[in-house]
Amino acid sequence: MSLIVQKFGGTSVKDAERLRNVASIVTEAYKKGNDVVVVVSAQGDTTDDLIEKAAEITANPSQREMDMLLASGEQISASLLAMCIQDMGFPAVSLTGWQAGFLTSSSHTMARIRRVTPDRIRRELDQKKIVVVCGFQGLSRYEDITTLGRGGSDTSAVAIAASLNADLCQIFTDVEGVFTADPRKVPNAIKLKEISYDEMLELATLGAQVLNNRSVEMAKKYNIELEVLSSYTRVPGTIVKENVKMEKMLISGVAKDTDVARLSITCVPDRPGMVFKLFSKLAAKKINVDVILQSVGRHNTKDIAFTVAKGKGAEAKEICEQFAASVGAESVDYNDTVAKVSIVGAGMESHAGVAAKMFEALYDKQINIRMIATSEIKVSVIIDVDDADKAVKAIHEKFFPETVD
Ligand code: ADP
Ligand code: ASP
Ligand code: MG
Repeated sequence: MSLIVQKFGGTSVKDAERLRNVASIVTEAYKKGNDVVVVVSAQGDTTDDLIEKAAEITANPSQREMDMLLASGEQISASLLAMCIQDMGFPAVSLTGWQAGFLTSSSHTMARIRRVTPDRIRRELDQKKIVVVCGFQGLSRYEDITTLGRGGSDTSAVAIAASLNADLCQIFTDVEGVFTADPRKVPNAIKLKEISYDEMLELATLGAQVLNNRSVEMAKKYNIELEVLSSYTRVPGTIVKENVKMEKMLISGVAKDTDVARLSITCVPDRPGMVFKLFSKLAAKKINVDVILQSVGRHNTKDIAFTVAKGKGAEAKEICEQFAASVGAESVDYNDTVAKVSIVGAGMESHAGVAAKMFEALYDKQINIRMIATSEIKVSVIIDVDDADKAVKAIHEKFFPETVD
């Protein structure tokens, strides 16, 4: 007998028919004698709809109340799924995040899990119940409801798997696994049999939404093997784990992120302390800076450009303008019609020319690169957002030519 955690995303639980399908997957595992804990997301676009409802009331909602609102989505799907399982003749109970023992930080709408105390889950499992837990939510030490940030149910599932020392953690979604690119955008993308935590973490952070990046971080930390698979078909998915057999692939995937804004400051005096001054101001406001570019100094000035998430764009622009005025820089430019396209692969550490191959793919399509960032296992470029899908396809074609139609 094993303990299995199964997580189902929004599309997988979107209506009564899909819920019945989920109930049959869950009860199949239960009938084999396993203990089963299920983690669910809100149905379909519920979370987006709730955000819209708040926007109809106010442009500046209290973040505490947002969490109160957003957490309701997962309660709907968890209770409906429990009813559905019961209706099929099996014992089930649904639990909110706080009943399930999720203690989080108090940063509303982006809380981090501090601890999971799964006593209640264990008690229900001991009574042979299928336990359905609301993903995405927890309780702060002030006993306020919190949510974990968009896509946070993946992290809830991994946290439960870690706290219960589960034998298996399956993430059911609407595609058959992790692919070499978003299969909805690149039909020839290849499904990966397995992928390492490190590569998956990069892909998830760089925009492959199939897994939330924090869930991968946590899976790596607690060594929880994940399987990403479809709730629509019954075929094996992708295994995410520490060590994977080296396949003959130079890269494991191409990802796109459109949540990017670029700021550039021209003619900053070329003397020590300039970037320190600017970035410490951004850090003080908790603005995460991503790609950074500084030009070679010329005529005693230099240009500095960097990217941030769009949501932080306006605040970052204000800081840049104050900075530019205080040091006598020429101008500040703000552009949020850019995207970041990246390739990820452990293979590039030992192979020269991977970045060149990516740049060639972009050149072939006459796509202009605005910024570049690299690490041991990734290369990212900032390009115009209108070119992003074309760029992903072109790069994918270059690295996986046999899959061209
Ligand atoms: P869920 O609601 O199940 O959490 P998401 O919508 O969050 O599902 O994530 C699944 C989606 O991720 C897929 O429908 C797919 O379009 C997208 N995706 C982006 N990149 C990839 C990739 N490399 N492999 C698989 N899916 C990807
Ligand atoms: N319902 C939340 C969201 O839409 C959490 C999740 O689906 O993982 O972001
Ligand atoms: Mg998701």
